[in-house]
Amino acid sequence: MGPTVYTGTRRRRPVPDTDPPATTVADAAAAVPTSDATQSSDAVDPTSTEATQSSADRSTRIPSGSVAFGDLTRAAYCPRQLYYARREPDRSIPDAQRSRIDLAFRYPELVTADDAALSDRPIDPSPTVYRERLRTLRDGGCRERFGVPWRSLANPDRTRAFLVGRSCHGIAHKVLSGDEAVVTQSGDHEVGSSVDDAGDADAGDPPIPCLVSPGTPPERGVWEPQTVRAVAIAKALAWEREREIPRVLVEYPAVGVVREVSLTVRTTAAYRRALRTARGIDGPPPRVSDDRCPPCEYRDRCGTETRSLRSRLGL
Ligand code: SF4
Repeated sequence: MGPTVYTGTRRRRPVPDTDPPATTVADAAAAVPTSDATQSSDAVDPTSTEATQSSADRSTRIPSGSVAFGDLTRAAYCPRQLYYARREPDRSIPDAQRSRIDLAFRYPELVTADDAALSDRPIDPSPTVYRERLRTLRDGGCRERFGVPWRSLANPDRTRAFLVGRSCHGIAHKVLSGDEAVVTQSGDHEVGSSVDDAGDADAGDPPIPCLVSPGTPPERGVWEPQTVRAVAIAKALAWEREREIPRVLVEYPAVGVVREVSLTVRTTAAYRRALRTARGIDGPPPRVSDDRCPPCEYRDRCGTETRSLRSRLGL
């Protein structure tokens, strides 16, 4: 059985994930040294707002038994993959993926860029389609769909924020001020007043964390491993702010798409399953042997036969 997609109200089996796991699963994976065996795998970009904090400081803040966001993501994809990943000496993300993530921090520039400039960027659609998608978000789409002003998404309050929760820790690529988004009684989002600092934001509506993926989204919703990561980010931010964080935006900047993950009974249960799985691994878990395996970076080491191979052999 392959990874499940959460569409917000129901789950369905996705089309096969064409992204390699490194893009769909370990999209922020890089080493953040920790003092215990949880081995954080969440990126600290040298240009990030909070990357200057020493790893020693981070280690002392991370509670024993806390699991890195990246490990939860892999646990949700395939526990055996997490087992292999934890044994990697270097878990930093490839430059190509980092370049795609960085697009999420250049929206104001990209939305007005010409074809030649966009052709030099690691985007998947044509420049025309990409620019149109960003313009749709800028010209009301972001506000209408997510209750978030474009300026908030394009110029977030915090970037690459290192979050430490009670049970998990890692990087939230952005944290948007919640006071710019107001939920009406009808459930629609409207734009409210802006605040400039996190302290004031805590007094109003909850902040909105963002997960940035270098990959591509499913047809609808968000891949289950990314849903788990999004919930983990919300939990950690909730612990930091001592308030509920009800939703997370998931950005796919290489294709100009934004999705939302809400914390529901179902998505929170998926997070808790991944947390139990990640904590419980003490030897190689069973192979999943399904459509998660062909794009897996550990398939050779794992020795899993893929369906295509079996079918080619007529088995
Ligand atoms: S090849 Fe399949 S079973 Fe093996 S680690 Fe990868 S996803 Fe898991």
